[in-house]
Formats: sequence, structure tokens, C-alpha cells
Amino acid sequence: MKLVSYCGLVCSECPAYVARLTGDDELRARTAEEWSKMYSSDIPPSEIDCVGCTVVEGRHIGHCGECGIRMCGMARGVAGCGACEDYQACPTIGEFLAMVPQAREELDGMARQR
Ligand code: SF4
Ligand code: SF4
Repeated sequence: MKLVSYCGLVCSECPAYVARLTGDDELRARTAEEWSKMYSSDIPPSEIDCVGCTVVEGRHIGHCGECGIRMCGMARGVAGCGACEDYQACPTIGEFLAMVPQAREELDGMARQR
């Protein structure tokens, strides 16, 4: 089942989500190495473990666990920012989409279904 985050990332394709679902320790190790380089930090394989953005209970890793967009989406009770009435005018999601343009497609799809 496809699982999309509030900001439009596809959680069900994220290695942290897949590794949790499958218990794939090799994927954890590979992803920890890649993300440590990408974010210039030391991310241990045990951190590569996430239940997905829109799932309330359970472990969310790193930034996703404390993300303001996620908190706002939960507080508003929307399925994602695309389903929010302020989607087009919201500066928070606007700034994010400027950095991660590939997330727009998912959110625009949600907006069309509103
Ligand atoms: S919330 Fe979790 S599964 Fe979704 S993108 Fe972030 S780390 Fe990956
Ligand atoms: S106000 Fe912005 S960040 Fe919050 S749910 Fe709506 S679009 Fe997303």
C-alpha cells in the first residue's frame, strides 16, 4: 500500500520504512552509510527504522519525528498538505517544495481530489 507523508514524500518507498517492514539489516547498513555522507553526520544503522509519517504511534527517525509540517498536518487533521485548504498559500509547504520539487506531484494529486 502506498503511504505518502504530509509533505508529499512517499514513505512506502523510503528505505527507513522498508527496512522496518522487512527487517532488512543490509538495507539499514547501506542507507545509514549513504545518509551519513549525504547529511554529513553519523547515522547508525539502528536509526534506519520508521513507521511512516502519517502513522501516529511508533518510531519516526531524525527530522521526520520532529517535523513542523507533520505536526501541522496532524493538528489540522488532513491526509496531507495537498488536502489542506491553505495548501496553495502556505509558505511552510511552499519553502519545502522549493527544495524538494518531486513532492509536489503527490500533493497536487491530493489537492485535485479535494
Ligand atoms: S517519515 Fe519516515 S518513512 Fe516517511 S520519509 Fe520520513 S523517514 Fe522515511
Ligand atoms: S498549513 Fe501548510 S504545513 Fe500545515 S497542513 Fe496546511 S499546507 Fe501543510
